Amino acid sequence: MGKLGVYIQVPFCQTKCTYCNFHTGVVSPGRFAPYAAAVCREIDNHRQLFESSGITISSLDAAKARAVDTVYLGGGTPSLLEPELLAAMLQSLRANFDCSFSEVTLEADPETIDAEKAAQWAATGFNRISFGTQSFVDEELKAAGRMHRREDIYRAVPILRAAGIRNISFDLIAGLPKQTDASWRQSLSEAIALGPEHISIYMMEIDEGSRLGLEVLQSGSRYSAKDLPTEESMAEFYEQAQAELKSAGYVQYEISNWAKAGFESRHNLKYWRREPYLGFGAGAHSFSGTQRWANRHDAAVYVAAISEGKSAIETVDTLTPTLALEEEFFLGLRQLSGIDLARIERDYGVSLSGKVSDLAAHGMVETQGNILRLPAGKLSVSNEVIVELLRSVQVSV
Ligand code: SF4
Repeated sequence: MGKLGVYIQVPFCQTKCTYCNFHTGVVSPGRFAPYAAAVCREIDNHRQLFESSGITISSLDAAKARAVDTVYLGGGTPSLLEPELLAAMLQSLRANFDCSFSEVTLEADPETIDAEKAAQWAATGFNRISFGTQSFVDEELKAAGRMHRREDIYRAVPILRAAGIRNISFDLIAGLPKQTDASWRQSLSEAIALGPEHISIYMMEIDEGSRLGLEVLQSGSRYSAKDLPTEESMAEFYEQAQAELKSAGYVQYEISNWAKAGFESRHNLKYWRREPYLGFGAGAHSFSGTQRWANRHDAAVYVAAISEGKSAIETVDTLTPTLALEEEFFLGLRQLSGIDLARIERDYGVSLSGKVSDLAAHGMVETQGNILRLPAGKLSVSNEVIVELLRSVQVSV
């Protein structure tokens, strides 16, 4: 087991993007400092708060439960907060854990970046900035309700480089309203030309959790709902991204993620490898290896609970062997490097070789020694494969 990752959620944004289905809100900046103070207090009191919610912290052995090497501040738009507030959160971690940070990521939106902030972030210890780029086409950014424009991206990247940030990640969304084959190629090629170390490509999700999703499901036309690319186009966008990024020297290491050699997200790899992480802040999730738990989403409720010295944890789930095995497949097979079949057979007392041979014969999976993985061209059918694998086994431990 490696060291812990820590995720800190900052659920505030300047506006609500039309496609956003996250639990984030637009609040007055006066609420930022009390929120940051609550996060610091939650970190300071985490052992007592976890134990009061029935979390078996002893499942992480004492030394490893205190060693942290990756931190991820996500949201929301954590770059909206004053750098001093972000610094205070990292300081609380340093005061409460044995910290030897190798990767400290801040999610930032391009329009929130200026030279002074970037210098403060770097001085505080942030060494990776994950950019909500989404598109390089202003018409698409505008339709999606984004605050930034293409020129903000070009302004922000040199500022970060000048501040000494050597690890930049861009997010792009395939399937934005008004996106076309030509505009997608433009976004891809402009992203690649700026030379970020890491690129994430997310597929537009249509569900009732966003204004755009709701509009589409009700056959309305607001939020450019009638200008969404078709599912076939989105699948083509994804395949184009796979080809373009590969030829530009990026290695795909996960369904949605590509990196230059050595720049895979160490923090996010913990999620897919089922390594322990602790989450702080409203809506943050944690995983100890045997239990998963989550805080309340509502930031005001979260701040009120923590301020009164109470736990903000809303759900605690203890994993059964069956659930843990499902996670091994659903999370592990997202990685292009695959999963260790021998370890899984040993840990869960199952035999998968018959089903794996069957799936391999149909080109649905690949094997190499003990490693089982999905072929790069079959990532979109991962759920089908996983359901087949799970059907074939009965967990005996
Ligand atoms: S910036 Fe991100 S988290 Fe905030 S509303 Fe837009 S998509 Fe949602």
